[in-house]
Amino acid sequence: MTDLTTHSTTNATSYPDQGDALDGTTVDAVVIGGGAAGLNGALILARSRRSVVVIDSGSPRNAPAEAVHGLLALDGTPPSEILRRGRDHVRQYGGRVVSGEVVAAELAAPSPDGDLRFTVTLADGGRISARRVLVATGLTDVLPEVPGLAEHWGHSVVHCPYCHGWEVRDEPIGILATGPVSVAHALLFRQLTDDLVYFVNGIDLDDDSRVRFAALGIRVVDTPVERVVDDGDGELAGLRLADGEVVARRVVAIAAPLQARTQGLEGLGLPVRAVQNVGHSFASGVAGATDVPGVWVAGNVTELTAQVGASAAAGALAGASINTDLATADAEAAVRRAAGRSPHGSAG
Ligand SMILES: Cc1cc2nc3c(=O)[nH]c(=O)nc-3n(C[C@H](O)[C@H](O)[C@H](O)COP(=O)(O)OP(=O)(O)OC[C@H]3O[C@@H](n4cnc5c(N)ncnc54)[C@H](O)[C@@H]3O)c2cc1C
Repeated sequence: MTDLTTHSTTNATSYPDQGDALDGTTVDAVVIGGGAAGLNGALILARSRRSVVVIDSGSPRNAPAEAVHGLLALDGTPPSEILRRGRDHVRQYGGRVVSGEVVAAELAAPSPDGDLRFTVTLADGGRISARRVLVATGLTDVLPEVPGLAEHWGHSVVHCPYCHGWEVRDEPIGILATGPVSVAHALLFRQLTDDLVYFVNGIDLDDDSRVRFAALGIRVVDTPVERVVDDGDGELAGLRLADGEVVARRVVAIAAPLQARTQGLEGLGLPVRAVQNVGHSFASGVAGATDVPGVWVAGNVTELTAQVGASAAAGALAGASINTDLATADAEAAVRRAAGRSPHGSAG
């Protein structure tokens, strides 16, 4: 069986702007991760006159893609352009976007008036103190260790019928099985092409699925896959099998296991949940609330199958929920201060 655990995508890109500076003050909210989810959360907070800092390491999941599809009103826009506009919007309302990687985050001692405090540490040693935390670090697609596969990731090796399915319609497509979820994946890609081959790739394929595939005209290849083969121009040309046969394909679709990007965030104590046959993510409730007071999560880090629109929407909901929580804390603090000033107050 193919090893699914050792090759993961990083999508590292050079950060397209210098990023803002930290100034040592305690902010209302720190947002860890500046993709669609984090930036939309920051936008809602900044527009609510909350001081907010986004820390982003500059490697969004869809960095290899040429364009974002399936996103209302922005279909076909390059991912970097959407993020550039998002950062501009956050800054327009006073939010800051800092380039850097968070390597530690934890609850700190409460403020003198009893409000929560968190300390977030960056790889360069920078620190930020915040009243609330929104985690929006996204996920990692764990690619199968098939030689030649990673080089085509996001171009001829695709995962999402809604992101790039239209672009590869009618092409000879191969489904490279990664687990039970690949069967459903094949049915979705069959909607996009009549020329579909299912590579079993050492993953059990039950008889019912074989009957369905036969009825739908999906060819099944049981011989193990050895590597991805290019044509002379670097384009994907097919999959070479262990017996030497090359099955010509222009596109390979994989349902890669999905792992939330939790590194550096262990100190927050967020519960991690397994999503059967898909991967693991941070658990969350309504509007991204978590079991850890003061910490919210949004986007792919908690909803593994969310696309850009759903991730942005989740970030907006979480931002609004954080603002509500802060408003409640502010009101309670004001009552305590007022009581302290009053001759009848308990603090007097
Ligand atoms: C190849 C490909 C193509 C895709 N195409 C589409 C498409 O066409 N349409 C669509 O709707 N969706 C598409 N998607 C899905 C899309 O990428 C996700 O839905 C979206 O990126 C999720 O947004 P997010 O904000 O949750 O995470 P991300 O966009 O991944 O953003 C997370 C950010 O957090 C940062 N980060 C992570 N850890 C840390 C840390 N410790 N410290 C600081 N920063 C950190 C990362 O650098 C990153 O910038 C595609 C995905 C892939 C892989």
